Amino acid sequence: MRITNRQNLVLRGLAEGDLPLVHERLIALNLGAPGAELARDVVSCPGADTCNLAVTQSRGLGDDIARALEEAGLSEVGGVRVNISGCTNSCGQHHTSDIGFFGLERRAHGRAAPGYQMLLGGRVGEMEIGFGAKATKLPAKAASEAVVRVVGRFAEERTAGETFGGWLDRSGGAEAIGSTLVELDVFPDPDEHPEFYTDFDETGPYVSEVGEGECAT
Ligand code: SF4
Repeated sequence: MRITNRQNLVLRGLAEGDLPLVHERLIALNLGAPGAELARDVVSCPGADTCNLAVTQSRGLGDDIARALEEAGLSEVGGVRVNISGCTNSCGQHHTSDIGFFGLERRAHGRAAPGYQMLLGGRVGEMEIGFGAKATKLPAKAASEAVVRVVGRFAEERTAGETFGGWLDRSGGAEAIGSTLVELDVFPDPDEHPEFYTDFDETGPYVSEVGEGECAT
């Protein structure tokens, strides 16, 4: 068995005839959901669930992006990777992903709010490696809609066999795509939309509390 950098398991040495039984066993373990390596297969670091350095709930955003892609009928788009880190450290490998996010504290209407910097166009090839470029900042609660728009455009506009990076370059790059998303970078009145001031999987108002790190960072 191997563990991949997309947080998946690879079972090696199986005969084709073994697959139905393996699939049955995976379903029994609640590990049989489809979509590995497709758009819905979002990678995230632990974020504020367990990390003392986290600024945001990156895992909660990962679940929300998967949900939003599912609802938009885009969860099975191939050739696009989404990675999230809950702070500027890169444990979620956002910097080399097609669509990357790192968590930020934002302030609006005199309050703190969870937010993200979106990057586009990171790539890891056999002969090249490139970090994603900044596209736009977003409220945490608007990040999923931004992913739906980008994945939707990629799915609609890509040519046969075109990579995400190829489509992005042809479409003007991260800055140009980011400029189509800045309308999402709005924090509404907290009394009308308190959810923008509460992070995913939290019940109270957002507070950024950074402590001592436990990992390699
Ligand atoms: S330090 Fe690493 S694990 Fe912790 S929130 Fe930042 S990127 Fe995620």
